[in-house]
Amino acid sequence: MSLPLPGDSFEWRDQQRRPFLVCRPLEPFAPHLFTTALWALGARARDATAETGESSLEEAWRQVTDALSIDQHRLVRATQVHGAAVIVGTRAAVDRVRPEADIILLGEPDAAAAVQAADCVPMLMVDRATGVVAAAHAGWRGMAARVPQVALRALETTFGSRPANVIVALGPSIGACCYEVGPDVRDAFASTHFSNTLLDRVFLEQPHASNLNKPMPPLATAARRPDRWFFDGWLMASDQLVEAGVPKAQIYGAGLCTASHPRVLCSYRRDGVPAGRVVGAIRCQPRP
Ligand SMILES: [Zn+2]
Repeated sequence: MSLPLPGDSFEWRDQQRRPFLVCRPLEPFAPHLFTTALWALGARARDATAETGESSLEEAWRQVTDALSIDQHRLVRATQVHGAAVIVGTRAAVDRVRPEADIILLGEPDAAAAVQAADCVPMLMVDRATGVVAAAHAGWRGMAARVPQVALRALETTFGSRPANVIVALGPSIGACCYEVGPDVRDAFASTHFSNTLLDRVFLEQPHASNLNKPMPPLATAARRPDRWFFDGWLMASDQLVEAGVPKAQIYGAGLCTASHPRVLCSYRRDGVPAGRVVGAIRCQPRP
């Protein structure tokens, strides 16, 4: 299968012929991956009817923990609710529960944190000075709740991280080529004190398509509708991080739109309820 070309600092690898993305600058500090539609968790529900049930779900997650070389019960996951709540540490994995949260922080060895997404931005962070990590998930609601900044502040207050030491990878997610939104979305940002200057940069009047990320089919031919914008979640995420002190040169984007690449990536906007999920997962390697 031909795979789309990711951003400069990302590259494709594979685990038993299942492709995944890694962000090279993040890798020396924290093993991690962004999975694709070709992993069990990425299969669309209607394509995976034979694979439903608890045991097969456990098997599907085992692909992720195997790739990170950790025990299955050392993977921390949350019940994602499009908010900005934070959980810290491996307690949830030990207790085998999934608290409601969209940000997971980890400072322990031999453990990893994972988020799932199908258009929302999966974000992986590492403090290169200490090795503590974060995994976060944000769609427009999470961005309006400032998930990137909340995750960064949580690293600062919990582990004493300095933003200047934090490296961030933004995984595949829906791009401004495909993510048409209405006034409700723009209003959610305007009412939570985002500047008009920023909003004018992230709410585009025309889809921002490229040869790499083509508008998904219904958008390619549709006439523009009034009072609709194309939301640039990648810029919104990086802008929040820069404002909070992360050097721009330490924020890396995969640059791949989930909706534009139907065979490789998972998109709720494109596939609806049966959409599979991509996983962003990162393993903590505390530094001495
Ligand atoms: Zn797209």
